[in-house]
Amino acid sequence: MKNIAFILGTRPEIIKMAPLIKEAYKRGLSPTVINTGQHKELLYSMWDFFGIKAHYDLAIMQEGQDLSHTCAKAISSISEVLYHHKPDYVVVQGDTTTTFAGAMAGYYNGIKVAHIEAGLRTYDLSSPFPEEAHRQMVSKIADLHFCATESNKHALIFENVSTDKIFVVGNPGLDSLRETVLDKLEDDPKKKKHKQILLTLHRRESFGEPMEKILQAVNYLVEYGGIRVTFPVHPNPNVREAVSKHLKKCPEIEIVNPLDYFSFVKAMWDADVILSDSGGVQEEAPFLGKPTVVLREKTERIETLGKSSFLVGADLSKIINITISILSKEETFKRDFSYGDGYSAPRILDVLTK
Ligand code: UDP
Repeated sequence: MKNIAFILGTRPEIIKMAPLIKEAYKRGLSPTVINTGQHKELLYSMWDFFGIKAHYDLAIMQEGQDLSHTCAKAISSISEVLYHHKPDYVVVQGDTTTTFAGAMAGYYNGIKVAHIEAGLRTYDLSSPFPEEAHRQMVSKIADLHFCATESNKHALIFENVSTDKIFVVGNPGLDSLRETVLDKLEDDPKKKKHKQILLTLHRRESFGEPMEKILQAVNYLVEYGGIRVTFPVHPNPNVREAVSKHLKKCPEIEIVNPLDYFSFVKAMWDADVILSDSGGVQEEAPFLGKPTVVLREKTERIETLGKSSFLVGADLSKIINITISILSKEETFKRDFSYGDGYSAPRILDVLTK
C-alpha cells in the first residue's frame, strides 16, 4: 500500500488538496498530512469544513519573517518529517513557498515528488512573484506532473518534461466546489434591484500603485449607480492599509473579513461579475458560469480569456469599461469546464497508487 505525504500550508492549497486526501482515505490508504502553517487564520475554518486533519503542524511563520527565512524553515521542518516517514510520494500543489519547500524537501530525501496544478506559466519571473519561479523550479524536480489543462501540458513538453510523466486531470479545486457547495447553491427568488460585484485582492504585484488604481476604479463604479460591492479583505497589512486609505466608505461597498469557503462560493454565485487577482477564483468562476475581470497584468489561466474572463491589469478605464459592459449586457455566461470537471482527485489517485 502506497504511503503518501500531502504538504500544504495556504488557503488555496487546502481547498485544492482536500479532495485528494479524502480520496486517499476512501481507498484505504493512511496518508500523512503536513501543514507548514504558512497561512494561519485563513485556514482555521477549513479543516473542519473539509473534514480532514493535519498530522504535523510545523508553524513556520514568525512576525516580520522574510521569504528566505520562511522558505528555509519550511524546507528543514518538512525534511525532518519526511526523513522519519519515508513516504513513497510527496504531493505538493501549486506554487507557494510551501509548494517549493515541500518539493525540495522531497527531492533532498530521495522521495518522488508529485506536483498538482503543474505547467501553469506566465514566463515572467516577476509576475506572479515569487510563484512563477517556484512553479518552474518544482517542474525541474518533480517525478509526476498533474496538469489542469492541455496547454499546461504543452508548456511542460516545451521544457523537455517527458510526456509519460504528465497527466492532464483538471484542477482538484473544482472537486471541492462540486462536492461541498455546488448542490447547495440556489438563486435568490427575489430579483435584485442592483448589480452585484464581488471583489478580491491579495497578490504581491498588486500592492502599492496598482492597488490604489483598482480601488479608485471601484469607487467610480459605485458612483455610476445601481451597483453594490462585496469585498472580503485579505488579512495582509498591505491590502488592509490600501483599503482604509483609498476605498470610499459608503453603504454600497460592504467590506468584510475573509469569508469561509462556503460563504465565498455563495458570494461568487450571487455576483453578476467578479473582480479579482486570484488564481483560484479564475478557475472557479467559469465553473460556476460567472464572468471575471482579472486585475492582473499577466495571467497563466488563458483558456477562458476573452470568453468569460477579461485581463485588465490595474488600468482604471479598462476596469470600469469592461465591468460596466458586462453588467449592462445582461449576457449570460455558460458554465465552462476548461479548468476541470470536478472529478480530478480519483484520476490523480489512480496514478499515485499504480
Ligand atoms: N476564498 C475563500 N474565502 C475568501 C476568498 C477566497 O474561501 O474570502 C477561496 C476561493 O474560493 C479560492 C481560494 O480561496 O478557492 C483562492 O485563494 P487566493 O485568492 O488567496 O489564492 P490564489 O488562488 O490566488 O493562489
